[in-house]
Amino acid sequence: MALRHLSVKALLFFGLCQVGRRGFASAPEVREAPKKIAIIGGGIGGTAAAFFLRQEFGPAVKIEVFEAGTVGGRLATENIGGYEYETGGSIIHPLNLHMKHFLDRLGLSPRADVSSKLAIFDGKELTFEESDWFIVNFIRMLWRYGFNFIRMHMWVEGILDKFMRIYQYQQFGYSFSSVEKLLHAMGGDGFLTLVNQTLEEAMLAEGFSQVFLNDVVTPVTRVNYGQSVRINGFVGAIALAGADSGLWAVDGGNKMVCSGLLYHSKAELVPARVTAISMKMRPSKTGSAANFYEVNYVGESGAAHSTYDIVVVATPLHQGMSDINFSGFSPPIPTHFPGRYHQTVATLVHGLLNVSYLGTTEKPERFFVSDVLTLDNKASEIHSLSSLNPVKIPKGYSPSPASQHKVWKIFSSQPLSQKNLQQIFLSWDSVSEKRWLAYPSYSPPHRRTPPFILHDRLYYLNAVEWAASAMEMSAISARNLALLAHHRWYEQTAKINQEDLHTRLKGEL
Ligand SMILES: Cc1cc2nc3c(=O)[nH]c(=O)nc-3n(C[C@H](O)[C@H](O)[C@H](O)COP(=O)(O)OP(=O)(O)OC[C@H]3O[C@@H](n4cnc5c(N)ncnc54)[C@H](O)[C@@H]3O)c2cc1C
Repeated sequence: MALRHLSVKALLFFGLCQVGRRGFASAPEVREAPKKIAIIGGGIGGTAAAFFLRQEFGPAVKIEVFEAGTVGGRLATENIGGYEYETGGSIIHPLNLHMKHFLDRLGLSPRADVSSKLAIFDGKELTFEESDWFIVNFIRMLWRYGFNFIRMHMWVEGILDKFMRIYQYQQFGYSFSSVEKLLHAMGGDGFLTLVNQTLEEAMLAEGFSQVFLNDVVTPVTRVNYGQSVRINGFVGAIALAGADSGLWAVDGGNKMVCSGLLYHSKAELVPARVTAISMKMRPSKTGSAANFYEVNYVGESGAAHSTYDIVVVATPLHQGMSDINFSGFSPPIPTHFPGRYHQTVATLVHGLLNVSYLGTTEKPERFFVSDVLTLDNKASEIHSLSSLNPVKIPKGYSPSPASQHKVWKIFSSQPLSQKNLQQIFLSWDSVSEKRWLAYPSYSPPHRRTPPFILHDRLYYLNAVEWAASAMEMSAISARNLALLAHHRWYEQTAKINQEDLHTRLKGEL
C-alpha cells in the first residue's frame, strides 16, 4: 500500500519538474499582457510568487518585490561563534514537492543528515526517551498506547494522500479562488470539517485515546505551533506529519531558497515598506476607463509610489505583521483581518545543559537527546528544547553529548527569565532571543478564512495560513495565485474552481 502511494508521489514530483512551464506555453494571449506586477513581502511566499508569476506571464512583465526587512522573512538564521543556525522555519517534509522542486531549479541541496534523539518532558522528568533501537521504541509505544501510534501514522498518511492532489491540479493549471475551495478540491467536505474542528475533536472522533492525545500528540503541536491540541484538525495533521522521518532542511539555510527564487525570477527587489495600496482609474486605448493599483512605500530615499496591473500581498494582514492601508476599494479592505498571530520566542543559548533540570539521572557525557518536547501542564514553561546543528554541517561533524558546550534552541511563548536560564543551563557564553509572531493563533471553528482575492487583480497569499502555516503552504498558495492571476487576466474561467478534479484527472499521469 505504502509503496503504491510512494510511487504515485514520486511520479507527481517528476511531473512537477517536467511541466513547470505549463502556463507560459499555453496562454492564449488575446488580451495584452500585464506590464507591471508588485509583490509585497520577500519571504518564501512572495519570492515563490515571483517565480511562478514569471512562469505564467513570461519574460516581458516587470515584477517588483517590496521587502521592508530581510529577504526570507520568517526563514532566518542567527550567527553564533561563526556558524549560522535557523531561528524561524526550519524543517521541511519529504513530500513538500514545491520546496523540493525549488532546490532542484536553484541548484541547492538538502543539508547533510545528523542523527537525532527525542524525549518528552512533563516539567519534572522525562516521560519518554527514544531508544537507539526501533523495536524498543515500538514495543514501548504499543505497551502504553496500544495501536494508537500506528493508527495515527495511517490517519496522517490518509490526509497527506489527499493533500498531494494539489500538485496534480496545479500541474494541469487549475486554480482556486478561496482557501475553502482549494481545501475542498483536495479533501472534499472532510478537509473543511477538519479546519473547523479542533485536532482533539477530530482525533477523539477517530477513536484515539485522550491519554495518547495528552502524552504524544500535544508535545508535537507544542513544538511545531506553540499551541495545544485545540488548534484546527488540518494544521494539526500537518504538525503530526512534521514528526515523520525523512525531514530535511536546506544546506546553507532555508532562506537561501528565497534569495534564489528572487534571482531566478529576475524580479527586482525594492527595499521598502509598503504603507498603502489604492485603486486608481485611467483611460484605456478603447476609450473606457481601466483601473490599476498605486502602491505607496517608504524606502531609504523617502516616500514614493508606483503603479501596477496586478498586486500580490505576501505578508499577513494582521496586527503586528504589516500595516497596509487600503483606500478607494468598495467593499473596503481592512488593514488587519480578525484573529491574531501567536508569539513564539526562539532563544538560542550557547551553553552547558543542566541535565538534572530534565529530571534525568543519566550522566551528561552519556546524554545524547537532541529534541525535548513538552507536555501541556503548568510545570512546563517551555514548549521545546533542541540541540541545534549549523545550517552547513562541517566535515566530520557528529552529535555531541550534553557534557559539551553547544547551541540549544528553546521555544516558549514568553521570553525566558534569568531564573529560567539558570535552571536549564549550568553556564552559557551567549544568549540571543528572537520574538516571532510566528503563525496564526488557531481557535476553530473559523469565522471565515481571509480571501485570496481582495479586489479584481489584488491578491492575498497569506490567507492560506489560516488553514495551516508552513513554508510549503506559502509555496502552494503562491502557485495558486499565479495561476489564478493568469486565468483571471486572460478570462480562462474553465481553469478556476473546477469541481471533482480528482476523478476527472485520474489516469492523466
Ligand atoms: C519559529 C518558527 C518556526 C517555524 N517552523 C516551521 C517549520 O519547521 N517548517 C515550516 O514549514 N514552517 C515553519 N514555520 C512557518 C514558516 O516559517 C512560515 O509559514 C513561512 O515562512 C511564511 O512565509 P511567508 O513568505 O508567507 O511570510 P513571511 O516569511 O512572514 O514573509 C513576509 C515578508 O513581508 C515583509 N513585510 C511585511 N510587511 C511589509 C510591508 N508593509 N512592506 C514590505 N514588506 C513587508 C516581512 O518583512 C517579511 O519578510 C515556522 C515559523 C516560525 C516563526
